[in-house]
Amino acid sequence: MLLDCTDDGAAYFHSNTSSNTQLLRTVSFLWHIFGVTFMANSTSEIRALTASAFRTPEKFTEFCRNGGKPLGGLIGGEETPGSMNATFQTIDPGSLEVLATISEMGEAEVARAVSVATHAFQAWRNVDVEKKIALVTKLVELCERDKNVLLACEILDGGKVSELAEGDFGQIRACAEYFCGVARKIAMGDGPSMQVSPGVQGFTYREPWGVVAGIIPWNYPIVLTAWFMFPALLSGNTILIKPAEDTPLSALYIGKLAQEAGFPPGVINVLPGRGEITGHCIAEHPGVRFISFTGSPGVGQAILRTCDRNGTRMKREMGGNGAAIVLADADPAVVARMIGRYTNQHFGQTCCTIHRIFVDRKIADEFTDAQSAFFKELKIGYQADAGTQLGAVINPTQRRRILQAQQETVERGGKPILAGGEAVVAGKNGFYLKPALYRTEPGLNVNPLEVFHTYATICPVSSAEEALQLANASPYGLGASIWTKDIKRGVSLAKQFRDGTCQVNCHNSIAYGLPYGGQGISGGPGGGVNCEETFLDYTQVKAVYVADYPG
Ligand code: NAD
Repeated sequence: MLLDCTDDGAAYFHSNTSSNTQLLRTVSFLWHIFGVTFMANSTSEIRALTASAFRTPEKFTEFCRNGGKPLGGLIGGEETPGSMNATFQTIDPGSLEVLATISEMGEAEVARAVSVATHAFQAWRNVDVEKKIALVTKLVELCERDKNVLLACEILDGGKVSELAEGDFGQIRACAEYFCGVARKIAMGDGPSMQVSPGVQGFTYREPWGVVAGIIPWNYPIVLTAWFMFPALLSGNTILIKPAEDTPLSALYIGKLAQEAGFPPGVINVLPGRGEITGHCIAEHPGVRFISFTGSPGVGQAILRTCDRNGTRMKREMGGNGAAIVLADADPAVVARMIGRYTNQHFGQTCCTIHRIFVDRKIADEFTDAQSAFFKELKIGYQADAGTQLGAVINPTQRRRILQAQQETVERGGKPILAGGEAVVAGKNGFYLKPALYRTEPGLNVNPLEVFHTYATICPVSSAEEALQLANASPYGLGASIWTKDIKRGVSLAKQFRDGTCQVNCHNSIAYGLPYGGQGISGGPGGGVNCEETFLDYTQVKAVYVADYPG
């Protein structure tokens, strides 16, 4: 079997009798990571995602300034200040510059949003699918018209390098087009009927939930807003979007564009605020029929318990502690660079990022040297300056958590190769940290938690089976990969991961049509994102029985 690449970069396998070729040397490398598809033809091209210089567009500055008022939520087609009179500031994590002041939505605003969304649902559920698709298409076009504003949201508010932000931006159209196709294909309403018994017919009836909320984290604001919004809307629900408090700008801007696109008032509502206030009020509100949560497992578990009290249903996509297994036949220099690129994607702030590497002992030293060289090469800097590959982390809490994880790794027996710690970027006051790399031994379990930075441990192993056992000894289960020239063996081993996404010679992979979800504490309930199951998650099915009139 060989890894093959489609035009849009999605990977698939096909049989090939001349397998076990020098795959890593002869076939172009494929990256289909969150927003970025990238091909490299030589080892030297395998580099970290990199910034181009980015200048703040005037339209973004105007949007943030909002005529001197805090940016309000969007409820029923109107910008709404919070009745609590509470505001918060959203900052650029690389410079600590305040970008905008936002009005926090409290209990009253959540109640109003649920009320207008409930009202709007009565009409929206019956809008013809082609009309819904036309509105979604218009919204995508407006996003593309204002691409620079949305890139500014990702780069300045989210702290991303432009190469990743550009890739993320492309997911708006890709996701919309995929779910428009799914919406045309999946039949809502009456299903086929069956004769239940003499004189009794039965059939299924598929319908949207009603008011559906998407609770979104800060690391991929545009991508995750699109992944939630399009399937939820196209299946006939009205929505509340709750962006993360660190990155509220892109959802607020998309909400404004949705009004311009002509979505009826109340169909799309945006509720910025803290998790413990706005998020909690949404989770507690009995009028919210379904919640799509993306974030950390602890918060997801708490929201599920809250939801259960009201019978609110939920789907959850949560954190990971990604593993990579490098077999003895892999070229250590090549694979270390590939893994380095994935580990550093958005500076390690990617849910499925590799934090745990298990390498065959025969190549462990050579691999460690190459991994360390890649990490040392990373250019630490401000995310909007050309050449930056490792920018600031999102907030001071994350910085503290990462530094603590580095310290605990050493306390548990990890041997630092690169010790991490704080980094200094001249003229910038952001949350900068150095990459961290450790050697460890089987059984030490030095990094049991998601670290969320450019951080990895390298554990030498004696067999692939030992590596699999160690990789699977984690409560997380989001994404894992095997690196080998022997594709057949790689596929067989990859299927044994206890993860939602199992990969051979790639990592951080996504493709529309394949579920992206987690096992263990990384996901569920729900069928993951980006597949037909996702669309079905936003619907419910009831059985209808019809008997002849008695007598
Ligand atoms: P988080 O769990 O702290 O917050 C996520 C969202 O939940 C935010 O909007 C937050 O305001 C809200 N929230 C917090 N407390 C709440 C409460 N009590 N009630 C209701 N809402 C509440 O996560 P984060 O730090 O923003 O994001 C990082 C996490 O997200 C990581 O664990 C990462 O792996 C995960 N993630 C997972 C995926 C995936 O697809 N599996 C994708 C991206 C990020």
